[in-house]
Amino acid sequence: MKYQLICQACNKIFSSESGLYTCPACQSSLRVEYLDPRTVFKDHNQLPGIWKYFSKLPLESESFISMGEGCTPLLHLGNRTSSTIDIWVKNESLNPTGTYKDRPASVSVSKAKELGAKGVVVASDGNAAPAVAAYAAKGDVPCIVLMPQKTPELRYLQAAAYGAKIILIDGSINDCLDIAREIANKTGYHNCCTANTVNPYQIEGNKTLSFEILDQLLEVPDWVAVPVGGGGVLSAVGKGFQEMKKSGRIERIPRILAVQAQNCAPLVAAFSGDGVIRKLEQVQDTIAITIALPYPPDGEMALDYIKQSNGHAIAVTEEEIMSSVFHLSGKHGILSEPSGAVSFSGLMKAHDQGIIQYGEKCVAILTGSGLKTIEAFKKGLENVISVPNDIESVLTKLN
Ligand SMILES: *Cc1c(COP(=O)(O)O)cnc(C)c1O
Repeated sequence: MKYQLICQACNKIFSSESGLYTCPACQSSLRVEYLDPRTVFKDHNQLPGIWKYFSKLPLESESFISMGEGCTPLLHLGNRTSSTIDIWVKNESLNPTGTYKDRPASVSVSKAKELGAKGVVVASDGNAAPAVAAYAAKGDVPCIVLMPQKTPELRYLQAAAYGAKIILIDGSINDCLDIAREIANKTGYHNCCTANTVNPYQIEGNKTLSFEILDQLLEVPDWVAVPVGGGGVLSAVGKGFQEMKKSGRIERIPRILAVQAQNCAPLVAAFSGDGVIRKLEQVQDTIAITIALPYPPDGEMALDYIKQSNGHAIAVTEEEIMSSVFHLSGKHGILSEPSGAVSFSGLMKAHDQGIIQYGEKCVAILTGSGLKTIEAFKKGLENVISVPNDIESVLTKLN
């Protein structure tokens, strides 16, 4: 046995063979804890993708589903920005379906298959749906995706292309999440939603982000900036660094900077206020659509990890987000989804506010590809001109 499951609320311990998703005693979320904390990282170099860290992933056998997820570049931007902090970006847009969600999907669909699931279900109007659908396709596991009826067609075409059955529900994304849970209770389908409250395995895939950052940077950065929607990926980044500290591989963990769009920032509100997360009653539209959750299901866990790291939480405006998006594309050739670029915006803003100091080494996780939301780049149309079909007219327009 490689790991145990521990209830986050009542601390009861269950064996990995139980195959549980939530605590049977109190229904709270479970945490995967490895029995040997000393394990060497990246100990399975011959395996593809995130599975190089096999001994720190919750599969018993090597029969996982992989498409080479992870192993994304960590790029140094420091010299080309006008800022005075040392900036690196982890470009997650290079994952098989275009976002870091392939890390949790690879683990959760593999785990469901290992446990003999009849299929997998995911409620998502964002990037989790196509990721789970792709890994289900590759693993030959039936996949059901639940989305609100008002979701624009462009947001489900990718998942549908992978062969998932898309069920549009006349309700909100929260209603879809509830129905996913019911389906998992009543059928042999396993719930692969990317919230720790319903699936404790998927977060383990996310934590490989921290392992890779250390392997690539060869030192612990001062800050890691993470976009927050539900709070799952931030918690996983925290867990990854904590595990490396526990194993004696590193002596300190980086400070974690949580970043949300100001128009939908329930976690930042809790961090700057009384520490209690409240569901936002009114949410303004934001270009960072895949992180616009009025209530973050893993918010408490995320707040814990921020505090343990002596981190911070910050909200950025629509203007700041779009300025980062075009800075990344126009100056560095990186097409980032606005939801992912908030991490970069957050670093800049935290530096302006004196939270991040001169010379500190910072990593921004750019969680997804701009191709996911190409309509956000309409401002780029400024660079488009039409001319008559002759070389003279074209030459007059070159500069
Ligand atoms: C899902 C997602 C996030 C946020 O992840 P959470 O775990 O919900 O906080 C950030 N960026 C992108 C591109 C995403 O798809």
